[in-house]
Amino acid sequence: MKLSETPLINAATLHAGIQSLAAEISIAYSDTAFIMLTVLKGALHFSSDLQRALNPALDITSEFIRVRSYEGTESNSRAQILYKPENSFAHKHVLIIEDILDTGHTASVVQNYVANQKPASIRFCTLLDKPDRRLVPVHADFTGFTIDDHFVVGYGLDYNEQYRHLPEIYTLF
Ligand code: 5GP
Ligand code: MG
Repeated sequence: MKLSETPLINAATLHAGIQSLAAEISIAYSDTAFIMLTVLKGALHFSSDLQRALNPALDITSEFIRVRSYEGTESNSRAQILYKPENSFAHKHVLIIEDILDTGHTASVVQNYVANQKPASIRFCTLLDKPDRRLVPVHADFTGFTIDDHFVVGYGLDYNEQYRHLPEIYTLF
């Protein structure tokens, strides 16, 4: 496997996309307290930058969930919850933060987990979307970038736990 020589999404483009997502989310939740539920590990870098770009006056608490769906570059339809959030989502507004929406299996596992707790609302925010790969219908309320069917790494996204630290998003081929 080899990294692309130039990033698919460079740091300036990532920054601009996140600023614009943050502006949309800040408006959507201007009157509503909400929980940002970050899906580990891939969305950690994105969520961290996104949270700091939001309007500081928002009423936000943070939770994390860890789901494993991938081994290598192949999606695995039996996504597994490895770490569960500490607090209940009952009657809360929940915004799920994902790195990438691919087949939709992981997103639907997370959405079902949250929905079972009878929250006030669930919305879904993803940095990247690969709509051509979708097997399970999942609707993203907030999308950073729509990309073609490439396997990408960097900015939190891994290949067998490598490359998460890269500040920009690269294609692996
Ligand atoms: P899904 O369950 O939608 O097929 O996949 C979502 C999860 O698979 C993401 O949270 C991410 O961990 C992983 N994934 C999907 N596509 C890619 C990709 O292009 N690169 C990397 N590094 N991970 C991916
Ligand atoms: Mg992963």
